[in-house]
Amino acid sequence: MTSPFPTPKSGILDITPYVGGKASLDGQDKVVKLSSNETPLGSSPKAKEAFGTLSEKLHLYPDGGSQELIHTIAKIHDLPADRLICGNGSDEILSLIANAYCGPGDEVLYSEHGFLVYELSALANGATPVKAPEKNLTTDVDALLASVTEKTKILFLANPNNPTGTYISADEVRRLHAGLRSDILLVLDAAYAEYVTKSDYEAGVALVAETENVIMTRTFSKIYGLSALRIGWAYGSEAVIDVLHRIRGPFNVNAAAQVAGVAAVRDQDFVKEAVAHNEKWIPILTQSLRGMGLKIPDSVGNFIMMDFGDTGKSASDADAYLASKGYILRSIASYGLPTCLRMSVGTDEDNRAVIDHLREFLES
Ligand SMILES: *Cc1c(COP(=O)(O)O)cnc(C)c1O
Repeated sequence: MTSPFPTPKSGILDITPYVGGKASLDGQDKVVKLSSNETPLGSSPKAKEAFGTLSEKLHLYPDGGSQELIHTIAKIHDLPADRLICGNGSDEILSLIANAYCGPGDEVLYSEHGFLVYELSALANGATPVKAPEKNLTTDVDALLASVTEKTKILFLANPNNPTGTYISADEVRRLHAGLRSDILLVLDAAYAEYVTKSDYEAGVALVAETENVIMTRTFSKIYGLSALRIGWAYGSEAVIDVLHRIRGPFNVNAAAQVAGVAAVRDQDFVKEAVAHNEKWIPILTQSLRGMGLKIPDSVGNFIMMDFGDTGKSASDADAYLASKGYILRSIASYGLPTCLRMSVGTDEDNRAVIDHLREFLES
């Protein structure tokens, strides 16, 4: 049957466009954005300086293969450069993976409250997104394995997960991998890996090294504070990385991103500061807000998820109250969590202010 107008491939019109964290509030000049898991520490001064050097070179194409960035990442993380790829944010890499490995009739599996981009990238390729239930807001390996069918092509696992902040141990990830057919690609999205200080956690480097069907994705958007530049990278088997290189845009990572990324990854002191700030605040925020009756899963990321379910108040009213004070948190109804808000760890001052405002709100 012919259509009288251009029609996209099946699945695309089922996509609800991704809505990022709000950045402004009507009628307010000073707003504090705690809605997108950005860092309150800005970016490394060395990265900013490197970025500044680019203004005289804007007429030149970037290195299409991001070679200096790839080699710098390889060196700092002790990884083989020929098994790495950089992307325009890790989102691009997640999309490339879906573009390459799934299509109509295939299933793409992830956890109930998994990152929204997994669903989008499956639908964009006509594949069927499949969600496995979680236990205690945490990835349930048995439920994932029980949801695998002969149609499953990709399993996306955010570890730690956004928006819940929870994680599964390296042993659990291995158990998941061991239960998968070897033709299913396991994607370990480790966007928050640098923040995790638990001894039983691994981002996935060892598993990628030993296997052919695991790829780990990382980002410069979170701990490195370079969200604006859009830089992600991935480590996978030679075969999978080769496939992604074939289909990526020839100049997918821009020159500013490359120079700033190189400087940022060399500045590991900056990363340590960010971890220390986070380690200080996650327990304070968690305990203070739990003390007010909010339910909060233990988070290993740079954000917490608060559930208003037991407080007699709604998440949307809390969101509006905080907004009236200039604080933007994130509604996560689109993740199936309508009674919850997500909050990024902010500066000392902003974290204290949110705690105080939430207390006022809950007592009002
Ligand atoms: C923020 C985030 C990303 C992506 O980030 P990019 O900015 O595209 O690199 C990927 N996965 C999860 C789970 C995230 O929270």
